[in-house]
Amino acid sequence: MPSTTRPTRSLTRPAAVVVAAAGAVLAGALPAAATTETDDVTPEQELTDAITVVDQYWADNHQGYFGDEYVAPLVFTGEAGVQGMYTSGVDSHPCGGEEALTPTNALHCAEPVGEDWIAVSDDLLLDGTAQIGDAFTYLVVAHEWGHAIQLRHPELTAPWVELQADCIAGATLAEASDQGLVTWEEGDDEEVAAGLLAVADETGWTDTTSHGSAEERASSFQHGIDTGLTGCLYSGSLQP
Ligand SMILES: [Zn+2]
Repeated sequence: MPSTTRPTRSLTRPAAVVVAAAGAVLAGALPAAATTETDDVTPEQELTDAITVVDQYWADNHQGYFGDEYVAPLVFTGEAGVQGMYTSGVDSHPCGGEEALTPTNALHCAEPVGEDWIAVSDDLLLDGTAQIGDAFTYLVVAHEWGHAIQLRHPELTAPWVELQADCIAGATLAEASDQGLVTWEEGDDEEVAAGLLAVADETGWTDTTSHGSAEERASSFQHGIDTGLTGCLYSGSLQP
């Protein structure tokens, strides 16, 4: 399983808090005490760790890649009180005027930058972890954060938004590992491949709404690992 090491820099950004319906809270990702490797990290704690790692990665690297300051997305915290997690069928929150917290899903809600937010359902988290392993959680968080990065840089966003988010996820996790934010362990690659298979479409990439086939998703994720973030950014001429 991925294990976190204590980030060398703490998050200094104050946590913006937006009180939402039903006691739910949208807040900036708070720095959680990174855990050391144990065998009994709960999926909920794994989600908190994954959010901390990915947010820290972008806090450390965004300006270097893009030249402008990092504005983090918010994370939704539902009634269960787990950062980034909503309970399917219990929590509710709109995105663009429609209910966003559909069962068994993860999402980035593209509100204006800084008010945009990320959430993962409890059942996707628990099922994915049980069936695939805890690297699944890191994949989901890094992918949704990839959509937040796309929102910040529309000129570099490819038409194949989902495959690009997979590429950004691969780059994020590989570089976060290189930078000591997370330890990628034996078996994690297989877990991610299985995770991409589980969330792939039946057919290949055709339009902006399609996620792409398992092969396309895996190869996009791998492309991010191999080339880093720069290789994921859209130049206007690449093919999916
Ligand atoms: Zn996506």
